[in-house]
Amino acid sequence: MFKRSLCWLRRDLRLHDNHALSDALAKADESYVVFIFDQNILKKIKNKSDPRISFIVNSLKEIEIQLNKHGSSLIIKYGDPVLEIPKIIEEYKIEALFFNKDYEPYSKIRDNKIKQTLISKKIKVFDTKDSVFFESREVVNGTGEVYKVFTPYKNKWLEKFRAQDELIPNFKCNAKKIANFKHTTNVLDYDWYKIIGFVESDCEIEPGTKAGLKQLNQFEKIISNYKEARDIPSLEETSNLSTYIRFGNISIRDMLRLAIKKDNIGHQTWFSELIWRDFYQMILDAYPHIETKCFRSEYDQIEWLGNKNDFSKWCEGMTGYPLVDSAMRCLNKTGLMHNRLRMVVASFLTKTLLIDWRQGEKYFAEKLLDYDLAANNGGWQWSASTGVDAQPYFRIFNPYNQSRKFDPNGVYIRRWCPELSDFSDKNIHAPHETELDEQVKANCFIGKNYPHPIVAYKTQRDKALQMYKKVK
Ligand code: FAD
Repeated sequence: MFKRSLCWLRRDLRLHDNHALSDALAKADESYVVFIFDQNILKKIKNKSDPRISFIVNSLKEIEIQLNKHGSSLIIKYGDPVLEIPKIIEEYKIEALFFNKDYEPYSKIRDNKIKQTLISKKIKVFDTKDSVFFESREVVNGTGEVYKVFTPYKNKWLEKFRAQDELIPNFKCNAKKIANFKHTTNVLDYDWYKIIGFVESDCEIEPGTKAGLKQLNQFEKIISNYKEARDIPSLEETSNLSTYIRFGNISIRDMLRLAIKKDNIGHQTWFSELIWRDFYQMILDAYPHIETKCFRSEYDQIEWLGNKNDFSKWCEGMTGYPLVDSAMRCLNKTGLMHNRLRMVVASFLTKTLLIDWRQGEKYFAEKLLDYDLAANNGGWQWSASTGVDAQPYFRIFNPYNQSRKFDPNGVYIRRWCPELSDFSDKNIHAPHETELDEQVKANCFIGKNYPHPIVAYKTQRDKALQMYKKVK
């Protein structure tokens, strides 16, 4: 038993079902909780009104209010955690540090440095599994290697899951042990935006645990339809929980408890998505080089034929492909994009515009509220066929067919490309193919009010096949 422990919150911005916090409280007479604005991460964010910063600040405010109820407060710092954590340890006379593991390459290096420093000072360090259900090497094949194909991984994951004594643990946090004190520069009384060099902005998603759990409850009402509804972007019937799980306002166990509540096809399909999440986290942990390289190294030899101008048009949502443009405009405005459309625009960028997946991945990283290195990299490398268990390179999404199949009445396109609203359901997917009188009727002239397609799909498809074949 320690006198004083410290729990360092990072991507787990909640006070319930939190493994590290639960242990920190259980193993000490009193515990402090800290959050550090990591300058190494913040300095890379160019947009100084990035809504993710507001999401974090507001999540911290919620935590501060909760801690205040127990006579406590959240310590907040700005700087390099490698330097800040040892300072806090000294200032508060901490005997043990607790944090939940993060599997991203930068975090692993940072956390190891901190561990080494603290161990040399005889401070105990406990890093726990929390953000995933099964981590890294917990689900391995018969020869002890990590899986590179999802289906056998999922089968083994489920086998292991069902064999547990306690199916889904709940890490109870004993608030009585939280240290009684008030942090002077706490997040409610102090302007933390100013200190870290950002400004507050509106966020499309309401931040915090309360909002996350409410969203989870809302989703429970429609989860049974998930299998059919999840591919139709205009329905908005996926859970929309990715931002909450990214920042840890809710736990993966909160989500899994819902996934296993019923055994119908909706629950099962959603359950499977949560296992994909574990899969990509495990892959990033085992193969950290994929942050910058193709998982399948032969594809690093690809000579990408695309150009800067087409990339800009893709970013702006001005490619002349209505479904692609709608999805990109939605991303730019809200910081969100439906999974089906992430696949469509990623396939379009790599296999129609012939642009390196890393450029698209970087753009998503700048824009997505739920940006998560493992899932984003996994999704991009899957779409570009360069990744683990990816689709074969010759599977190239036809953007027109995707549009007709997943937005048959153009509901989604009309929402994001209003200039196309008056085209018929049939013509809205490829308005450039319409005769002039159709354009007059729709009050939209292609080339004037909406762009001609910047490239021809069929020609680009052939080029993509050649481009990939060259390195096979
Ligand atoms: P739901 O359909 O309700 O799924 C529930 C949860 O399962 C999600 O919140 C998410 O945590 C997880 N999940 C679902 N699908 C996947 C998947 N394919 N891979 C990993 N986890 C998944 N997801 C992110 O969280 N962050 C990203 O940066 C990200 N980038 C992506 C980039 C591309 C190119 C692609 C194709 C997919 C990406 N995804 C990413 C996965 C997926 O698109 C989002 O998780 C999903 O759209 C979030 O919406 P939701 O919460 O309504 O998901």
